[in-house]
Amino acid sequence: MSASGEGAESAGDPPRLIEIIPSPPLLVWDITYACPLRCVHCYSESGRRRSRQLSADGLARVAEAIVAGRPRAVVISGGEPLMVKGLLPVMARMRDAGIATILYTSGWLDPGLVMDDLLRFASGIVVSLDGADAAVHDRIRGRPGAFTRAVRALGEFDAAVAEARRHGRPAPELGIDTVVMRSNRHQIVSICTEIAPRFPALDTLSFGAVIPTGLASRTSFAEAELIGDAEALAMLDASFLATLQVLAPRWVRVSVTDIRKFQMHPDLIATGMDIPPLQIEPDGRVRAMPIYEGTVGSLLDDPLERLWARAIDRWSDNFVIGQLRAAGTMLDWARATRAIDRRFGTVADRARITRRPDYAAAVLSGEAAGPEQ
Ligand code: SF4
Repeated sequence: MSASGEGAESAGDPPRLIEIIPSPPLLVWDITYACPLRCVHCYSESGRRRSRQLSADGLARVAEAIVAGRPRAVVISGGEPLMVKGLLPVMARMRDAGIATILYTSGWLDPGLVMDDLLRFASGIVVSLDGADAAVHDRIRGRPGAFTRAVRALGEFDAAVAEARRHGRPAPELGIDTVVMRSNRHQIVSICTEIAPRFPALDTLSFGAVIPTGLASRTSFAEAELIGDAEALAMLDASFLATLQVLAPRWVRVSVTDIRKFQMHPDLIATGMDIPPLQIEPDGRVRAMPIYEGTVGSLLDDPLERLWARAIDRWSDNFVIGQLRAAGTMLDWARATRAIDRRFGTVADRARITRRPDYAAAVLSGEAAGPEQ
């Protein structure tokens, strides 16, 4: 409070969001935008743009800034994190600071050479699998062989985790994550009944409807692949989860992600629903809202708390509120994403968005557009 009392809140003032949510519940660091795959729905457009990956020194500085913010957990994603040479020191630093670190990978790269370190440093390892067979998975992932490699990586992780547990050594939780869209939703059951049983050390199986962000916010993709509004709601029904849990092996915990928290609809935020993570871009810049373009500064310049406070301010921006309040359907949400991205993205972001190919044409060509210049 100032000495004069100016600006002080009266007893009747509602608490500000920053007082209700004083620190981010979770951080997600897309540690690189480099990726060997070309997934049709890629949220970060990885592989089609500059990697924006930092040097080892830069990675260490961002890691220190994260540690200083004392988050409970950090998800390391991308891009493909296993392509980053400085990944292991970053994960070791998090582990030493007592921060749970969950690594997401496509399984394209063989994890064998770094397996021991990954097992020591990671609290969780999650492999993305968007189909129960090569025909579906490889089409979504944009490269032949992606399914074979993902299953091979899962097998390696599974064997290594099982071995560590057998010897009483700490081992991360092992998970599979599936993004559900129209062209793979018919394989949800097979993932539970045919894929999961192959891995005796598998702990979790998570499903979440595709979120209209990044390439999945394109009109052509949204119209073809976003699941319907009723279906999206049905996925959140307890009976859907219960059915999947019965189908999956008894040792696997199934979950369904409530993607509404990523929309950040102002009415849902007001109800105190789960707040999405704070999203960090590869070079340390921090997004105001995880699935929308627009940053509020960099961890290389400002402490996490200050960036978090700035991020929260964006949530109540009039333009953001107007767009999100008007988004009652999945297709509306995709439209709102495009509008927010255009409003808050940089010149380079807007140019990249303009260059996005039509979904149908992109699938035919394998979405193999070159990196951003
Ligand atoms: S694996 Fe696919 S979704 Fe993940 S970053 Fe690479 S292209 Fe994007």
